[in-house]
Amino acid sequence: MTNVDHEGWSRVKGRLRAEVGDDVYSSWFARMDLEAIEEGTVRLSVPTRFLKSWIQSHYAERVLACWQAEQTQVGRIELTVRSAVLRTAIAKPKPELEAGVIEGLRLNGNGRTLPADDPGAHEALGGSPLDARLTFESFVVGRSNTLAQAAAKQVASGKRGDAVMFNPLYIHAGVGLGKTHLLQAITWTGNATGERKVLYLTAEKFMYGFVSALRTQTALAFKEALRGIGVLVIDDLQFLQGKSTQAEFCHTLNALIDAGRQVVIASDRPPSDLESLDDRVRSRLAGGLVVEMGALGEELRLEILKSRVMAARSHHPSFDVPLPVLGYIAKTVTHNGRDLEGALNRLLAHNKLTGHAVTLEMAEREVRDLIRPQEPKRVKIEDIQRVVARQYNVSRSDLLSSRRTANVVRPRQVAMYLAKTLTLRSLPEIGRRFGGRDHTTVLHAVRKIEGLVGNDMALAEEIEILKRQLQE
Ligand code: ADP
Ligand code: MG
Repeated sequence: MTNVDHEGWSRVKGRLRAEVGDDVYSSWFARMDLEAIEEGTVRLSVPTRFLKSWIQSHYAERVLACWQAEQTQVGRIELTVRSAVLRTAIAKPKPELEAGVIEGLRLNGNGRTLPADDPGAHEALGGSPLDARLTFESFVVGRSNTLAQAAAKQVASGKRGDAVMFNPLYIHAGVGLGKTHLLQAITWTGNATGERKVLYLTAEKFMYGFVSALRTQTALAFKEALRGIGVLVIDDLQFLQGKSTQAEFCHTLNALIDAGRQVVIASDRPPSDLESLDDRVRSRLAGGLVVEMGALGEELRLEILKSRVMAARSHHPSFDVPLPVLGYIAKTVTHNGRDLEGALNRLLAHNKLTGHAVTLEMAEREVRDLIRPQEPKRVKIEDIQRVVARQYNVSRSDLLSSRRTANVVRPRQVAMYLAKTLTLRSLPEIGRRFGGRDHTTVLHAVRKIEGLVGNDMALAEEIEILKRQLQE
Protein backbone atom coordinates (compact mmCIF):
# COMPACT_ATOMS: atom_id res chain seq x y z
CA MET A 1 0.00 0.00 0.00
CA THR A 2 1.33 3.40 -0.81
CA ASN A 3 0.34 6.93 -1.13
CA VAL A 4 -3.18 7.38 -2.29
CA ASP A 5 -2.89 10.51 -4.30
CA HIS A 6 -6.17 12.25 -3.77
CA GLU A 7 -5.34 15.24 -5.79
CA GLY A 8 -4.25 13.18 -8.74
CA TRP A 9 -7.43 11.19 -8.43
CA SER A 10 -9.61 14.30 -8.60
CA ARG A 11 -7.82 15.36 -11.74
CA VAL A 12 -8.35 11.95 -13.29
CA LYS A 13 -12.03 12.17 -12.47
CA GLY A 14 -12.18 15.61 -13.97
CA ARG A 15 -10.68 14.32 -17.18
CA LEU A 16 -13.04 11.41 -17.30
CA ARG A 17 -16.04 13.64 -16.76
CA ALA A 18 -14.92 15.95 -19.53
CA GLU A 19 -14.49 13.03 -21.91
CA VAL A 20 -17.68 11.09 -21.34
CA GLY A 21 -20.01 13.93 -20.39
CA ASP A 22 -21.90 14.60 -17.19
CA ASP A 23 -24.68 12.07 -17.73
CA VAL A 24 -22.49 9.12 -18.42
CA TYR A 25 -20.12 10.17 -15.72
CA SER A 26 -22.73 10.34 -13.03
CA SER A 27 -24.30 7.08 -14.18
CA TRP A 28 -21.17 5.04 -14.03
CA PHE A 29 -18.33 6.79 -12.28
CA ALA A 30 -19.83 8.90 -9.52
CA ARG A 31 -19.34 6.14 -6.99
CA MET A 32 -15.98 4.90 -8.15
CA ASP A 33 -13.34 5.26 -5.43
CA LEU A 34 -9.61 5.11 -5.40
CA GLU A 35 -8.35 2.41 -3.05
CA ALA A 36 -4.64 2.35 -3.65
CA ILE A 37 -1.85 2.80 -6.11
CA GLU A 38 0.87 0.18 -5.99
CA GLU A 39 3.68 -0.36 -8.42
CA GLY A 40 1.99 1.00 -11.45
CA THR A 41 -1.36 -0.56 -10.62
CA VAL A 42 -4.26 1.67 -9.69
CA ARG A 43 -6.87 -0.04 -7.59
CA LEU A 44 -10.36 1.36 -7.94
CA SER A 45 -13.56 0.19 -6.37
CA VAL A 46 -17.26 0.44 -7.16
CA PRO A 47 -20.25 -0.62 -5.08
CA THR A 48 -21.81 -3.26 -7.35
CA ARG A 49 -20.72 -6.05 -9.62
CA PHE A 50 -22.92 -4.63 -12.28
CA LEU A 51 -21.04 -1.37 -12.24
CA LYS A 52 -17.75 -3.18 -12.22
CA SER A 53 -18.51 -5.27 -15.24
CA TRP A 54 -20.05 -2.42 -17.12
CA ILE A 55 -17.09 -0.18 -16.58
CA GLN A 56 -14.72 -2.98 -17.38
CA SER A 57 -16.33 -3.83 -20.64
CA HIS A 58 -17.05 -0.30 -21.75
CA TYR A 59 -14.65 2.09 -20.17
CA ALA A 60 -11.57 0.23 -19.02
CA GLU A 61 -9.28 1.69 -21.62
CA ARG A 62 -10.61 5.14 -21.19
CA VAL A 63 -10.12 5.09 -17.46
CA LEU A 64 -6.59 3.83 -17.91
CA ALA A 65 -5.87 6.52 -20.47
CA CYS A 66 -7.08 9.21 -18.11
CA TRP A 67 -4.75 7.92 -15.45
CA GLN A 68 -1.83 7.71 -17.80
CA ALA A 69 -2.42 11.27 -18.85
CA GLU A 70 -1.91 12.27 -15.22
CA GLN A 71 0.65 9.74 -14.09
CA THR A 72 2.66 8.07 -16.80
CA GLN A 73 3.90 5.28 -14.56
CA VAL A 74 0.40 3.81 -14.25
CA GLY A 75 0.36 0.55 -16.20
CA ARG A 76 -2.89 -1.03 -15.24
CA ILE A 77 -6.22 -0.50 -13.57
CA GLU A 78 -7.71 -2.98 -11.20
CA LEU A 79 -11.39 -2.68 -10.52
CA THR A 80 -12.98 -4.28 -7.47
CA VAL A 81 -16.35 -4.41 -5.82
CA ARG A 82 -16.28 -2.69 -2.47
CA SER A 83 -17.15 -4.65 0.64
CA ALA A 84 -16.67 -7.95 -1.03
CA VAL A 85 -13.59 -9.92 -0.12
CA LEU A 86 -11.70 -9.55 -3.26
CA ARG A 87 -9.71 -11.64 -5.46
CA THR A 88 -9.33 -9.28 -8.23
CA ALA A 89 -10.33 -8.68 -11.64
CA ILE A 90 -9.21 -8.22 -15.11
CA ALA A 91 -7.00 -5.29 -15.67
CA LYS A 92 -6.25 -6.18 -19.22
CA PRO A 93 -8.22 -3.69 -21.26
CA LYS A 94 -11.04 -5.38 -23.09
CA PRO A 95 -12.32 -4.56 -26.51
CA GLU A 96 -15.56 -2.64 -26.40
CA LEU A 97 -18.51 -4.94 -26.31
CA GLU A 98 -21.29 -4.24 -28.69
CA ALA A 99 -24.44 -2.45 -27.74
CA GLY A 100 -25.20 -3.86 -24.35
CA VAL A 101 -23.91 -5.33 -21.22
CA ILE A 102 -25.86 -8.51 -21.38
CA GLU A 103 -23.77 -11.17 -22.87
CA GLY A 104 -26.11 -14.07 -22.39
CA LEU A 105 -24.82 -17.57 -22.49
CA ARG A 106 -23.57 -19.32 -25.52
CA LEU A 107 -23.50 -22.83 -26.71
CA ASN A 108 -20.28 -24.40 -27.70
CA GLY A 109 -20.03 -27.45 -29.89
CA ASN A 110 -20.77 -29.89 -27.06
CA GLY A 111 -23.83 -28.02 -26.03
CA ARG A 112 -22.35 -27.16 -22.65
CA THR A 113 -22.87 -23.95 -20.81
CA LEU A 114 -20.22 -21.45 -21.63
CA PRO A 115 -19.94 -18.11 -20.02
CA ALA A 116 -19.84 -15.30 -22.50
CA ASP A 117 -16.70 -13.22 -22.83
CA ASP A 118 -17.74 -11.22 -19.85
CA PRO A 119 -19.37 -13.58 -17.41
CA GLY A 120 -19.46 -10.85 -14.82
CA ALA A 121 -21.92 -8.83 -16.84
CA HIS A 122 -24.30 -11.69 -17.35
CA GLU A 123 -24.07 -12.68 -13.74
CA ALA A 124 -24.44 -9.17 -12.51
CA LEU A 125 -27.71 -8.84 -14.35
CA GLY A 126 -28.81 -12.06 -12.78
CA GLY A 127 -28.95 -14.37 -15.80
CA SER A 128 -29.99 -17.75 -14.45
CA PRO A 129 -28.01 -20.85 -15.31
CA LEU A 130 -29.32 -22.95 -18.16
CA ASP A 131 -29.67 -26.69 -18.40
CA ALA A 132 -28.06 -27.89 -21.61
CA ARG A 133 -30.62 -30.65 -22.00
CA LEU A 134 -33.57 -28.33 -22.28
CA THR A 135 -33.64 -27.70 -26.00
CA PHE A 136 -36.23 -27.85 -28.75
CA GLU A 137 -34.68 -31.10 -29.94
CA SER A 138 -35.46 -32.78 -26.64
CA PHE A 139 -38.92 -31.26 -26.33
CA VAL A 140 -41.59 -33.72 -27.37
CA VAL A 141 -44.64 -32.21 -29.00
CA GLY A 142 -48.09 -33.55 -28.31
CA ARG A 143 -51.65 -32.37 -28.22
CA SER A 144 -51.29 -30.46 -24.98
CA ASN A 145 -48.30 -28.36 -26.00
CA THR A 146 -48.39 -27.99 -29.79
CA LEU A 147 -49.35 -24.35 -29.77
CA ALA A 148 -46.95 -23.36 -27.02
CA GLN A 149 -44.09 -25.13 -28.76
CA ALA A 150 -44.89 -23.52 -32.11
CA ALA A 151 -45.08 -20.07 -30.57
CA ALA A 152 -41.83 -20.63 -28.71
CA LYS A 153 -40.09 -21.73 -31.89
CA GLN A 154 -41.40 -18.74 -33.72
CA VAL A 155 -40.03 -16.45 -31.05
CA ALA A 156 -36.70 -18.24 -30.94
CA SER A 157 -36.19 -17.91 -34.66
CA GLY A 158 -36.91 -14.19 -34.65
CA LYS A 159 -34.29 -12.03 -36.28
CA ARG A 160 -32.91 -8.77 -35.13
CA GLY A 161 -35.15 -6.03 -36.39
CA ASP A 162 -38.02 -8.35 -37.30
CA ALA A 163 -41.45 -7.17 -36.36
CA VAL A 164 -42.35 -8.92 -33.14
CA MET A 165 -45.37 -11.13 -33.63
CA PHE A 166 -46.64 -11.90 -30.18
CA ASN A 167 -45.46 -9.76 -27.40
CA PRO A 168 -45.31 -10.83 -24.72
CA LEU A 169 -45.58 -14.54 -25.28
CA TYR A 170 -47.13 -15.82 -22.08
CA ILE A 171 -47.10 -19.55 -21.40
CA HIS A 172 -48.87 -21.00 -18.43
CA ALA A 173 -49.22 -24.54 -17.16
CA GLY A 174 -49.13 -26.59 -13.99
CA VAL A 175 -45.90 -27.73 -12.46
CA GLY A 176 -43.67 -30.08 -14.41
CA LEU A 177 -45.42 -29.63 -17.74
CA GLY A 178 -42.52 -28.15 -19.67
CA LYS A 179 -42.58 -24.38 -19.18
CA THR A 180 -38.97 -24.08 -18.13
CA HIS A 181 -38.00 -26.52 -20.84
CA LEU A 182 -39.53 -24.34 -23.55
CA LEU A 183 -38.15 -21.11 -22.13
CA GLN A 184 -34.64 -22.45 -21.96
CA ALA A 185 -34.99 -23.86 -25.45
CA ILE A 186 -35.80 -20.36 -26.66
CA THR A 187 -32.74 -19.05 -24.83
CA TRP A 188 -30.37 -21.65 -26.24
CA THR A 189 -31.64 -21.23 -29.76
CA GLY A 190 -31.60 -17.46 -29.69
CA ASN A 191 -28.12 -17.24 -28.27
CA ALA A 192 -26.78 -19.94 -30.55
CA THR A 193 -27.81 -18.08 -33.68
CA GLY A 194 -26.56 -14.87 -32.14
CA GLU A 195 -29.38 -12.96 -33.81
CA ARG A 196 -30.82 -11.55 -30.64
CA LYS A 197 -29.39 -11.76 -27.18
CA VAL A 198 -31.65 -13.69 -24.90
CA LEU A 199 -31.55 -13.16 -21.18
CA TYR A 200 -33.18 -15.91 -19.16
CA LEU A 201 -34.19 -15.01 -15.63
CA THR A 202 -36.26 -16.69 -13.02
CA ALA A 203 -38.60 -14.25 -11.30
CA GLU A 204 -36.40 -14.63 -8.26
CA LYS A 205 -33.30 -13.66 -10.15
CA PHE A 206 -35.21 -10.84 -11.66
CA MET A 207 -36.03 -9.58 -8.18
CA TYR A 208 -32.69 -10.07 -6.51
CA GLY A 209 -30.26 -9.72 -9.36
CA PHE A 210 -31.54 -7.71 -12.24
CA VAL A 211 -33.72 -5.27 -10.41
CA SER A 212 -31.31 -4.57 -7.62
CA ALA A 213 -28.51 -4.09 -10.09
CA LEU A 214 -30.60 -1.65 -12.03
CA ARG A 215 -31.87 0.09 -8.95
CA THR A 216 -28.42 1.20 -8.05
CA GLN A 217 -28.09 2.82 -11.46
CA THR A 218 -29.66 5.84 -12.99
CA ALA A 219 -32.35 5.86 -15.60
CA LEU A 220 -29.72 6.27 -18.26
CA ALA A 221 -27.84 3.22 -17.07
CA PHE A 222 -31.06 1.30 -17.06
CA LYS A 223 -31.79 2.19 -20.64
CA GLU A 224 -28.29 1.41 -21.71
CA ALA A 225 -28.46 -2.00 -20.11
CA LEU A 226 -31.78 -2.81 -21.71
CA ARG A 227 -30.51 -1.85 -25.11
CA GLY A 228 -28.48 -5.03 -25.18
CA ILE A 229 -31.39 -7.38 -24.68
CA GLY A 230 -33.17 -8.77 -27.70
CA VAL A 231 -35.35 -11.18 -25.81
CA LEU A 232 -36.10 -11.14 -22.11
CA VAL A 233 -37.33 -14.45 -20.75
CA ILE A 234 -38.83 -14.61 -17.28
CA ASP A 235 -39.69 -17.91 -15.69
CA ASP A 236 -42.14 -18.51 -12.84
CA LEU A 237 -43.62 -15.06 -12.84
CA GLN A 238 -46.01 -16.09 -10.06
CA PHE A 239 -43.12 -15.67 -7.65
CA LEU A 240 -42.65 -12.02 -8.43
CA GLN A 241 -43.43 -10.19 -5.24
CA GLY A 242 -43.31 -6.81 -3.68
CA LYS A 243 -44.67 -3.51 -4.85
CA SER A 244 -41.40 -1.97 -5.94
CA THR A 245 -40.24 -5.09 -7.74
CA GLN A 246 -43.48 -5.10 -9.61
CA ALA A 247 -43.01 -1.49 -10.49
CA GLU A 248 -39.57 -2.34 -11.88
CA PHE A 249 -41.04 -5.26 -13.73
CA CYS A 250 -43.73 -3.10 -15.21
CA HIS A 251 -41.15 -0.51 -16.20
CA THR A 252 -38.94 -3.15 -17.81
CA LEU A 253 -41.84 -4.79 -19.59
CA ASN A 254 -43.05 -1.52 -21.02
CA ALA A 255 -39.61 -0.36 -22.01
CA LEU A 256 -38.83 -3.60 -23.82
CA ILE A 257 -42.15 -4.00 -25.55
CA ASP A 258 -42.23 -0.40 -26.64
CA ALA A 259 -38.75 -0.80 -28.06
CA GLY A 260 -39.92 -3.80 -30.07
CA ARG A 261 -38.01 -6.31 -27.96
CA GLN A 262 -39.47 -9.71 -27.34
CA VAL A 263 -40.64 -10.68 -23.88
CA VAL A 264 -41.45 -14.28 -22.96
CA ILE A 265 -43.05 -15.23 -19.69
CA ALA A 266 -43.99 -18.46 -17.99
CA SER A 267 -46.20 -18.83 -14.99
CA ASP A 268 -48.31 -21.44 -13.30
CA ARG A 269 -51.44 -19.40 -13.87
CA PRO A 270 -52.99 -17.10 -16.47
CA PRO A 271 -52.37 -13.34 -16.26
CA SER A 272 -55.84 -12.77 -14.86
CA ASP A 273 -54.97 -14.89 -11.82
CA LEU A 274 -51.80 -13.03 -10.92
CA GLU A 275 -53.56 -11.31 -8.10
CA SER A 276 -50.71 -9.29 -6.78
CA LEU A 277 -50.03 -7.51 -10.06
CA ASP A 278 -51.85 -4.35 -10.86
CA ASP A 279 -54.39 -4.13 -13.64
CA ARG A 280 -52.22 -2.36 -16.14
CA VAL A 281 -49.51 -4.99 -15.94
CA ARG A 282 -52.04 -7.77 -16.14
CA SER A 283 -53.60 -6.36 -19.24
CA ARG A 284 -50.22 -5.76 -20.80
CA LEU A 285 -49.36 -9.38 -20.12
CA ALA A 286 -52.61 -10.57 -21.58
CA GLY A 287 -52.16 -8.35 -24.61
CA GLY A 288 -49.76 -10.62 -26.43
CA LEU A 289 -50.27 -14.31 -26.95
CA VAL A 290 -51.37 -16.31 -23.93
CA VAL A 291 -50.99 -20.06 -24.33
CA GLU A 292 -51.83 -22.76 -21.90
CA MET A 293 -50.13 -26.13 -21.84
CA GLY A 294 -52.33 -28.92 -20.61
CA ALA A 295 -51.45 -32.05 -18.70
CA LEU A 296 -49.13 -34.46 -20.50
CA GLY A 297 -51.34 -37.12 -21.97
CA GLU A 298 -50.37 -40.76 -21.72
CA GLU A 299 -49.15 -40.87 -25.29
CA LEU A 300 -46.98 -37.83 -24.78
CA ARG A 301 -45.63 -39.25 -21.56
CA LEU A 302 -44.63 -42.38 -23.40
CA GLU A 303 -42.88 -40.39 -26.10
CA ILE A 304 -41.03 -38.34 -23.52
CA LEU A 305 -39.90 -41.51 -21.79
CA LYS A 306 -38.69 -43.00 -25.03
CA SER A 307 -36.67 -39.95 -25.89
CA ARG A 308 -35.25 -39.88 -22.38
CA VAL A 309 -34.11 -43.46 -22.66
CA MET A 310 -32.47 -42.68 -25.98
CA ALA A 311 -30.66 -39.77 -24.42
CA ALA A 312 -29.56 -41.84 -21.43
CA ARG A 313 -28.22 -44.51 -23.72
CA SER A 314 -25.70 -42.15 -25.23
CA HIS A 315 -23.97 -42.26 -21.83
CA HIS A 316 -25.03 -45.72 -20.72
CA PRO A 317 -25.24 -47.84 -23.85
CA SER A 318 -26.27 -50.93 -21.92
CA PHE A 319 -29.31 -49.23 -20.40
CA ASP A 320 -32.38 -50.80 -21.88
CA VAL A 321 -35.96 -50.33 -20.83
CA PRO A 322 -38.43 -52.72 -22.41
CA LEU A 323 -41.44 -51.09 -23.97
CA PRO A 324 -43.93 -52.62 -21.52
CA VAL A 325 -42.02 -50.99 -18.68
CA LEU A 326 -42.17 -47.62 -20.42
CA GLY A 327 -45.86 -48.18 -21.02
CA TYR A 328 -46.35 -48.97 -17.37
CA ILE A 329 -44.58 -45.81 -16.25
CA ALA A 330 -46.41 -43.68 -18.79
CA LYS A 331 -49.68 -45.05 -17.57
CA THR A 332 -49.15 -44.88 -13.86
CA VAL A 333 -46.68 -42.15 -12.98
CA THR A 334 -48.08 -38.68 -12.39
CA HIS A 335 -48.54 -36.13 -15.14
CA ASN A 336 -45.56 -34.22 -13.90
CA GLY A 337 -42.61 -34.39 -16.30
CA ARG A 338 -40.25 -34.29 -13.37
CA ASP A 339 -41.61 -37.52 -11.95
CA LEU A 340 -41.20 -39.20 -15.32
CA GLU A 341 -37.59 -38.20 -15.25
CA GLY A 342 -37.28 -39.32 -11.64
CA ALA A 343 -38.77 -42.70 -12.47
CA LEU A 344 -36.29 -43.30 -15.26
CA ASN A 345 -33.40 -42.13 -13.13
CA ARG A 346 -34.27 -44.70 -10.53
CA LEU A 347 -34.39 -47.46 -13.10
CA LEU A 348 -31.08 -46.31 -14.44
CA ALA A 349 -29.52 -46.16 -10.99
CA HIS A 350 -30.85 -49.55 -10.09
CA ASN A 351 -29.67 -51.01 -13.33
CA LYS A 352 -26.19 -49.50 -12.97
CA LEU A 353 -25.73 -50.32 -9.32
CA THR A 354 -27.03 -53.85 -9.26
CA GLY A 355 -26.41 -54.84 -12.85
CA HIS A 356 -29.93 -56.28 -13.00
CA ALA A 357 -31.89 -55.80 -16.18
CA VAL A 358 -34.87 -53.50 -16.01
CA THR A 359 -38.05 -55.50 -15.66
CA LEU A 360 -41.65 -54.65 -15.04
CA GLU A 361 -41.35 -56.03 -11.56
CA MET A 362 -38.36 -53.89 -10.78
CA ALA A 363 -40.12 -50.84 -12.19
CA GLU A 364 -43.19 -51.46 -10.06
CA ARG A 365 -41.03 -51.58 -6.98
CA GLU A 366 -38.86 -48.61 -7.84
CA VAL A 367 -41.48 -46.10 -8.84
CA ARG A 368 -44.20 -47.02 -6.38
CA ASP A 369 -44.24 -43.64 -4.69
CA LEU A 370 -44.42 -41.72 -7.96
CA ILE A 371 -47.62 -43.37 -8.97
CA ARG A 372 -50.58 -41.10 -9.38
CA PRO A 373 -52.53 -41.15 -6.17
CA GLN A 374 -55.80 -40.83 -8.03
CA GLU A 375 -56.21 -42.62 -11.27
CA PRO A 376 -57.84 -41.75 -13.55
CA LYS A 377 -58.12 -38.00 -13.30
CA ARG A 378 -59.57 -36.81 -10.05
CA VAL A 379 -63.31 -36.52 -10.49
CA LYS A 380 -65.54 -35.44 -7.67
CA ILE A 381 -68.72 -37.27 -6.80
CA GLU A 382 -70.53 -33.92 -6.64
CA ASP A 383 -69.48 -33.25 -10.21
CA ILE A 384 -70.73 -36.62 -11.32
CA GLN A 385 -74.08 -36.00 -9.68
CA ARG A 386 -74.33 -32.54 -11.17
CA VAL A 387 -73.43 -33.60 -14.70
CA VAL A 388 -75.66 -36.67 -14.64
CA ALA A 389 -78.59 -34.72 -13.22
CA ARG A 390 -78.23 -32.15 -15.98
CA GLN A 391 -77.95 -34.80 -18.66
CA TYR A 392 -81.14 -36.60 -17.57
CA ASN A 393 -82.99 -33.49 -16.59
CA VAL A 394 -83.54 -34.41 -12.97
CA SER A 395 -82.35 -32.57 -9.89
CA ARG A 396 -79.39 -33.58 -7.79
CA SER A 397 -81.64 -34.07 -4.80
CA ASP A 398 -83.69 -36.50 -6.88
CA LEU A 399 -80.56 -38.59 -7.31
CA LEU A 400 -79.96 -38.60 -3.57
CA SER A 401 -83.58 -39.18 -2.65
CA SER A 402 -85.24 -42.50 -2.05
CA ARG A 403 -87.64 -42.07 -4.98
CA ARG A 404 -87.81 -45.13 -7.13
CA THR A 405 -89.51 -43.92 -10.30
CA ALA A 406 -87.85 -45.08 -13.48
CA ASN A 407 -86.81 -41.59 -14.60
CA VAL A 408 -84.72 -41.25 -11.43
CA VAL A 409 -83.55 -44.81 -10.91
CA ARG A 410 -81.59 -45.07 -14.14
CA PRO A 411 -79.76 -41.76 -13.79
CA ARG A 412 -78.96 -42.65 -10.19
CA GLN A 413 -77.48 -45.97 -11.30
CA VAL A 414 -75.48 -44.28 -13.99
CA ALA A 415 -74.13 -41.78 -11.50
CA MET A 416 -73.13 -44.53 -9.07
CA TYR A 417 -71.50 -46.46 -11.85
CA LEU A 418 -69.50 -43.40 -12.85
CA ALA A 419 -68.56 -42.77 -9.23
CA LYS A 420 -67.19 -46.28 -9.02
CA THR A 421 -65.29 -46.14 -12.30
CA LEU A 422 -64.01 -42.57 -12.22
CA THR A 423 -63.08 -42.20 -8.56
CA LEU A 424 -61.23 -44.31 -6.04
CA ARG A 425 -64.11 -44.16 -3.60
CA SER A 426 -65.19 -47.42 -2.03
CA LEU A 427 -68.69 -48.79 -2.45
CA PRO A 428 -69.77 -47.90 1.13
CA GLU A 429 -68.41 -44.38 0.65
CA ILE A 430 -70.32 -43.98 -2.60
CA GLY A 431 -73.43 -45.31 -0.90
CA ARG A 432 -73.07 -42.70 1.81
CA ARG A 433 -72.69 -39.95 -0.76
CA PHE A 434 -75.89 -41.07 -2.50
CA GLY A 435 -78.26 -40.37 0.32
CA GLY A 436 -76.90 -42.94 2.74
CA ARG A 437 -77.46 -46.06 0.70
CA ASP A 438 -76.06 -49.49 1.44
CA HIS A 439 -72.96 -50.60 -0.46
CA THR A 440 -74.89 -53.54 -1.93
CA THR A 441 -77.21 -51.06 -3.61
CA VAL A 442 -74.21 -49.38 -5.20
CA LEU A 443 -72.78 -52.71 -6.28
CA HIS A 444 -76.10 -53.63 -7.82
CA ALA A 445 -76.20 -50.36 -9.74
CA VAL A 446 -72.66 -50.81 -11.02
CA ARG A 447 -73.37 -54.36 -12.21
CA LYS A 448 -76.61 -53.29 -13.77
CA ILE A 449 -75.02 -50.57 -15.86
CA GLU A 450 -72.04 -52.75 -16.77
CA GLY A 451 -74.49 -55.33 -18.04
CA LEU A 452 -76.50 -52.79 -20.01
CA VAL A 453 -73.69 -50.99 -21.81
CA GLY A 454 -72.69 -54.26 -23.44
CA ASN A 455 -75.98 -54.32 -25.39
CA ASP A 456 -77.38 -50.83 -25.31
CA MET A 457 -75.35 -48.73 -27.74
CA ALA A 458 -77.24 -45.57 -26.93
CA LEU A 459 -76.54 -45.93 -23.23
CA ALA A 460 -72.92 -46.82 -23.86
CA GLU A 461 -72.53 -43.66 -25.86
CA GLU A 462 -74.32 -41.56 -23.28
CA ILE A 463 -71.92 -42.81 -20.66
CA GLU A 464 -68.92 -42.12 -22.85
CA ILE A 465 -70.09 -38.55 -23.29
CA LEU A 466 -70.59 -38.14 -19.56
CA LYS A 467 -67.15 -39.53 -18.87
CA ARG A 468 -65.59 -37.19 -21.31
CA GLN A 469 -67.36 -34.20 -19.82
CA LEU A 470 -66.17 -35.18 -16.39
CA GLN A 471 -62.58 -35.81 -17.37
CA GLU A 472 -62.18 -32.73 -19.50
P1 ADP B 1 -42.23 -26.60 -15.50
O1 ADP B 1 -41.23 -25.53 -15.70
O2 ADP B 1 -43.48 -26.40 -16.31
O3 ADP B 1 -42.55 -26.89 -14.07
P2 ADP B 1 -40.19 -28.25 -16.68
O4 ADP B 1 -39.99 -27.54 -17.95
O5 ADP B 1 -39.18 -28.07 -15.62
O6 ADP B 1 -41.64 -27.95 -16.07
O7 ADP B 1 -40.39 -29.80 -17.00
C1 ADP B 1 -40.22 -30.82 -16.03
C2 ADP B 1 -39.49 -31.98 -16.64
O8 ADP B 1 -40.30 -32.58 -17.63
C3 ADP B 1 -38.22 -31.56 -17.33
O9 ADP B 1 -37.26 -32.55 -17.14
C4 ADP B 1 -38.61 -31.47 -18.78
O10 ADP B 1 -37.53 -31.70 -19.62
C5 ADP B 1 -39.66 -32.55 -18.88
N1 ADP B 1 -40.66 -32.25 -19.90
C6 ADP B 1 -41.83 -31.60 -19.75
N2 ADP B 1 -42.49 -31.49 -20.91
C7 ADP B 1 -41.72 -32.10 -21.83
C8 ADP B 1 -41.84 -32.35 -23.24
N3 ADP B 1 -42.92 -31.94 -23.92
N4 ADP B 1 -40.85 -33.03 -23.84
C9 ADP B 1 -39.77 -33.46 -23.16
N5 ADP B 1 -39.58 -33.26 -21.85
C10 ADP B 1 -40.55 -32.60 -21.18
MG1 MG C 1 -40.30 -24.36 -14.25
